[in-house]
Amino acid sequence: QEQKVQEYMKKIYQMVIDRNPNEEEFHQAVKVILNSLIPIYVKDQTYMDKGILEQLLEPERVITFRVPWVDDEGKVQVNRGFRVQFNSALGPYKGGLRFHPSVNLSIVKFLGLQQIFKNSLTGQPIGGGKGGADFDPKGKSDGEIMRFCQSFMTELSRHIGPDVDIPAGDIGVGAKEIGYMFGQYKKIRGSFEAGVLTGKGLGYGGSLARKEATGYGTVYFVQEMLKDHGMSLDKSTVVVSGSGNVSIYAMEKAIKLGAKVVACSDSNGYIYDKNGIDLDTVKQLKEVDCGRISEYIETHPGAEYVEECTGIWSIPCDIALPCATQNEISERDANLLVANGVKAVAEGANMPSTSEAIEVFLKNNILFGPAKAVNAGGVAVSSLEMAQNSMRMAWSFEEVDAKLHEIMQTIYQNCVQASEEFNRPGNLVVGANIAGFQKVADAMVAQGVV
Ligand code: GLU
Repeated sequence: QEQKVQEYMKKIYQMVIDRNPNEEEFHQAVKVILNSLIPIYVKDQTYMDKGILEQLLEPERVITFRVPWVDDEGKVQVNRGFRVQFNSALGPYKGGLRFHPSVNLSIVKFLGLQQIFKNSLTGQPIGGGKGGADFDPKGKSDGEIMRFCQSFMTELSRHIGPDVDIPAGDIGVGAKEIGYMFGQYKKIRGSFEAGVLTGKGLGYGGSLARKEATGYGTVYFVQEMLKDHGMSLDKSTVVVSGSGNVSIYAMEKAIKLGAKVVACSDSNGYIYDKNGIDLDTVKQLKEVDCGRISEYIETHPGAEYVEECTGIWSIPCDIALPCATQNEISERDANLLVANGVKAVAEGANMPSTSEAIEVFLKNNILFGPAKAVNAGGVAVSSLEMAQNSMRMAWSFEEVDAKLHEIMQTIYQNCVQASEEFNRPGNLVVGANIAGFQKVADAMVAQGVV
């Protein structure tokens, strides 16, 4: 049976490659999933008989569109917009929008595919989707960003809705961009549909603790993982890549739990402060001034700045939290982390470890939390934002945070349970993929071939 499943997975993988040439990141995400699902396919023939993977790996709908806008010089600029509505078995499509020059169909599809599993793991009634544009917000004026967001939404608005598809933020899209897009959506529809976007400002339907959710959730997951193995964050040394929304709030929670965070980064380089990063300075720099992380050393001369991002993984630490972007930890970086004594790695970003890096961590019995599970807190609280919008009321920070904490504990437990049930104890990659998959696959079986 194992042999038969192996061959089936190979066939499926080949089908994906043939049908989606030149989509490397998408292939990478598919491969990890197919490998992880082997144990459940060996145990249960149903999903193979029902053609679940054949259906699941083809998005329900892919939309690409022109986004024209006028820059401050009066020149016409054109970007490409995307929305992949990947799977709606568990609920309306849900997932972020990424504005970054690297955005292409492959990136949006890998993110969308992972979002299906992630959203399933949250236990919330949300399907999976993702979108974005190859727009670079860096160096753009506020007016340019607003006009871009409006043009993007002019097209996207016809494809989304509170019960259809609910976008949110991702890299390059924060509360400001969500605000501009919400304004445009409202103007086009002529009705105030609060639940059409999440990550909104607090004054018009946003949820408390949404901003903190991905970072806090990441650390809640780490907390469970460590506790399970007789360790804790207290007095541990932590390296967190990135200095955006995920990174900042992962640092905040880790510090609160007694950890010393010694390094963080941005797309130019990293800072190393062996006395512990001063988070207020990072927040001021990144959230208020929109500056570069290199400026940190101006006020903290004891710290070091190195203009090279992945060098951050050469810093010895107990816990590594990659919270920047995809494929930021190579096999070499992983080997370096292991050689320097890392005990746990948890992915706050989406697919930050290459497949080879994951192998290194698993082989060396490093506690490894995969993105689908670890960073699910963001979208989980997005779903809580939708719930509050539907009820036309708002919960307190403490209420939302408590729900987030419970969701992260449950996700961890479900991943562990699935990894044990399917004979891969300690392998949370397998655990997360199987636990996430099972719910979606069962719903697809129940809903028939549609
Ligand atoms: N972009 C985030 C993620 O990767 C959040 C998505 C959402 O809140 O819908 O999960």
